[in-house]
Amino acid sequence: MAFAADPQPGHGGPLVIENCAIATMDGPRHDDTGAEHRSGHIVVSGGRITAVGEGSAPAGAAAGARRIDGTGCLATPGLINTHHHLYQWLTQGRAQQSSLFDWLTELYPVWVRIDAAQVHAAATAGLGWLALSGCTTSTDHHYIFPPGDRGVFEAAITAAARVGLRFHPCRGSMDLGRSAGGLPPDEVVEGPDEALAATAEAVRRFHDPSPGAMVRVAVAPCSPFSVSSRLMREMAGLARGLGVRLHTHLAETREEDAYCRQTRARTPAEYADELGWLGEDVWLAHCVHLDEAAVKRFAVTGTSVAHCPTSNARLGAGIAPVRQLLRAGVPVGLGVDGSASSEGTTLAGELHQALLVARVRDEHGPAALSARQALWLGTRGGAACLGRTGEIGALRPGMLADVALWRVDTLAHDAIARNAGPSSPSGPSSPSGPDGDPVAALVFGPPAPLELLLVGGTPVVERGELRTVDISAAARDVRAARRRLAT
Ligand SMILES: [Zn+2]
Repeated sequence: MAFAADPQPGHGGPLVIENCAIATMDGPRHDDTGAEHRSGHIVVSGGRITAVGEGSAPAGAAAGARRIDGTGCLATPGLINTHHHLYQWLTQGRAQQSSLFDWLTELYPVWVRIDAAQVHAAATAGLGWLALSGCTTSTDHHYIFPPGDRGVFEAAITAAARVGLRFHPCRGSMDLGRSAGGLPPDEVVEGPDEALAATAEAVRRFHDPSPGAMVRVAVAPCSPFSVSSRLMREMAGLARGLGVRLHTHLAETREEDAYCRQTRARTPAEYADELGWLGEDVWLAHCVHLDEAAVKRFAVTGTSVAHCPTSNARLGAGIAPVRQLLRAGVPVGLGVDGSASSEGTTLAGELHQALLVARVRDEHGPAALSARQALWLGTRGGAACLGRTGEIGALRPGMLADVALWRVDTLAHDAIARNAGPSSPSGPSSPSGPDGDPVAALVFGPPAPLELLLVGGTPVVERGELRTVDISAAARDVRAARRRLAT
């Protein structure tokens, strides 16, 4: 299936941003997030950052570059979304009082009818919305493949290219239909051999292992309650043979924990371990219900976690032990999760949510997570989940020029930034003081307006407007697709 391309903005040339606060997120750890500048510069050339620092850009930096005045703004690395199901944009607002299993049971019969054009419309709208909330790299975990349709996986990849985001599509699969004791209807599950072949084909066609890649594919069977142990094991072997990363859902709800203990005589984490699904090449969505042994095992094996606070709260699933995971050395990224379980899908909002839910859950209360740690989750933690530390998630020379420039001089943000003083530090490396704390304004405050979003040095958002696709047309397309799916 072919989809029309929008005209690209075509000015990804050299660029200098000056006079802005900068949080580089270039530190060694989540509790030491690195250098910050009160009024600094970022120089971009050839899609990469060539200079970052305090004061004006060096004389002669990027000759002929476009210059952007960042006065009143905070520059951060572009945010990284580590878990999503873009097609669910079409089924928001349903099953409002349901827990995960009931919610899935209500929605599967609708999703069974989805086609490539609908996925493309939902992905364009969803990725456009993500870009407008500061996201420069997103995943999409797609596991609904109606029989005979071969264009569904490609449809989201085409949408990401149009919107201009770096994209990590995760080829999902399910082989445990209702008749075999699973949750999904039989017509939407694949046979194990069929799923393995289609996943290998998706990697062969779309995965780009080269530095600076715009598309990298992960192997991602859906979850332990919709996938057989045979397929989970063979998918892990396939991914490792192809040199790509592994992703799935794990330990999301109490129901899943009980199901796993009942059917496998294991906790979800023990079961994943037994299947070869813990390791440095694995990132797992949710991980709400982990015991101490599981946290230790994740740390020892180098397994990463995609934390999805809004979705977990919406479905009443619980709150992941983020503080414990971070202290154990487990990389944790942020995810908006599917549009039908988060309903919001703004990644900047997840910084705020992560901060709040960690403080509600933990006996350490307000010390459970700082504003800078929340920003670390959305940047460095995300890069670790996707195996891209050293490429994205921090602002330093040589990194890809994925940059978000937030306005923190609005009425709401300015008040937080300027009032943040030495008596209210938001983290060990906080520069809060008489000149304020723009990171606190970004994370504690309402979502900040986006002045500029660069992906590989190319502007995708400018002054709050998407530059790559017509958002009104995307909204019309997604409305039409939703109506078609509902009939
Ligand atoms: Zn999910």
